[in-house]
Amino acid sequence: MDSYELIVIGAGISGLSLAYCAARKGMNTLVLEKGDAVGGAFHSHRIPDDGGDFWLELGAHTCYNSYRNLITVIEGSGMADRLTRREKVPFRVLRNGQVHSILSQLNFLELLRSVPRLFVTQKAGRSVAAYYQRIIGKQNFERLFAHAFNSVLSQDTADFPAEMLFKKRQRRKDLLKSFTLDGGLQSIATVVAGLPGLQTVTGVAVETVQASGDGFHMVTDDGHAYAARAVAVATPPPVASNLLKGCLPDVAERLAGIALSGVESMGVVVEKEKPRLDPLAGLIATDEAFFSVVSRDIVPHPRYRGFTFHFQPGRLEREAKLARIADVLGVPAGQIAQVAEKKNTIPALRVGHEDTIRSIDATLAGKKILLTGNYFAGVAIEDCVSRSFAEFQRLERQG
Ligand SMILES: Cc1cc2nc3c(=O)[nH]c(=O)nc-3n(C[C@H](O)[C@H](O)[C@H](O)COP(=O)(O)OP(=O)(O)OC[C@H]3O[C@@H](n4cnc5c(N)ncnc54)[C@H](O)[C@@H]3O)c2cc1C
Repeated sequence: MDSYELIVIGAGISGLSLAYCAARKGMNTLVLEKGDAVGGAFHSHRIPDDGGDFWLELGAHTCYNSYRNLITVIEGSGMADRLTRREKVPFRVLRNGQVHSILSQLNFLELLRSVPRLFVTQKAGRSVAAYYQRIIGKQNFERLFAHAFNSVLSQDTADFPAEMLFKKRQRRKDLLKSFTLDGGLQSIATVVAGLPGLQTVTGVAVETVQASGDGFHMVTDDGHAYAARAVAVATPPPVASNLLKGCLPDVAERLAGIALSGVESMGVVVEKEKPRLDPLAGLIATDEAFFSVVSRDIVPHPRYRGFTFHFQPGRLEREAKLARIADVLGVPAGQIAQVAEKKNTIPALRVGHEDTIRSIDATLAGKKILLTGNYFAGVAIEDCVSRSFAEFQRLERQG
């Protein structure tokens, strides 16, 4: 049986940033990933082109200079020179099939009346709807902001905890305020997975984790068995729950109670001059079967434009999705050069979630099982990396 100091299950940014910490400390580390490629929600679909490969994000798309832990990973993996500026193109609103500016959708009088409440309204313990209706007004919330927040999280965010939606973080003012990477964000995952000291195997799902002596045994769906002194589980909560039911039944039960929201992302690539839309960063949908559209116009390409439509799960069949996309872009469906699809999930957190996390962390204390993902402090990339850094530090403290 192959033995490692640490085995990380799941090669999304949570698992890989934890594996990064282990590699820096020279630990013999294995990463096991179910998908055919590393990245998870970092998925940059690529088409070869002689004007420079074209890539289109089917998942995460934007990083900020406040993502300090992520930047540590990027810099420490030798990718500092690959940060790429995002063009200043606007987000717009799609309503009744028409594209509008964000400002045109705001009721300024209501906003002025409501905004003073910002100084007396706590985020903690309030849902997104309860908090933002107070500080921007009910009409503004329902007409615009609810849709904007749903676009950010690709789900109905009304009951999501307000304090987990946006966070104030210290910026690295020496860096671009918002950025991507050349080749797209999946490049980060690919480079980290190939760091010296890390071994990464894709296309294998871990099926069981069992405590054994002073370590753990794992079995994958291709029948391989692995041993490790410590294990890090970096999968969505239902998978983590299933994997931990033997070693940590209490934690498994709590993880099983964390709801997930699905999103069906469909990316299309079209010749540059075809779409009717002016350059934009994306569209906030208000009355569509999709939450949002994210555009590649932030890094213009000489030949192509790309758009990813993040559809609500189960609403439309493939052909109906393509027809609606063609309609929004003003391009006949036959002129869509490429279509790529990805199913993503995002935790649907609820007020009081921090109690669940507190109780999970209390059970994990002193154990060599690390648990990370986008369901601890929030779903942003930086929340994932911060959790992974904290979990690795816990392992180090335990010795
Ligand atoms: C459409 C979309 C857009 C987003 N945009 C942004 C953005 O612009 N900026 C931002 O900050 N955040 C964004 N986010 C949020 C952020 O990207 C995610 O929260 C984050 O990438 C999740 O990383 P993760 O590693 O926790 O989970 P995932 O990326 O889901 O990775 C989990 C991995 O575990 C693997 N796995 C599952 N089961 C097993 C098993 N049994 N064995 C082995 N491997 C397994 C999966 O295949 C997957 O690769 C976006 C998310 C989505 C879905």
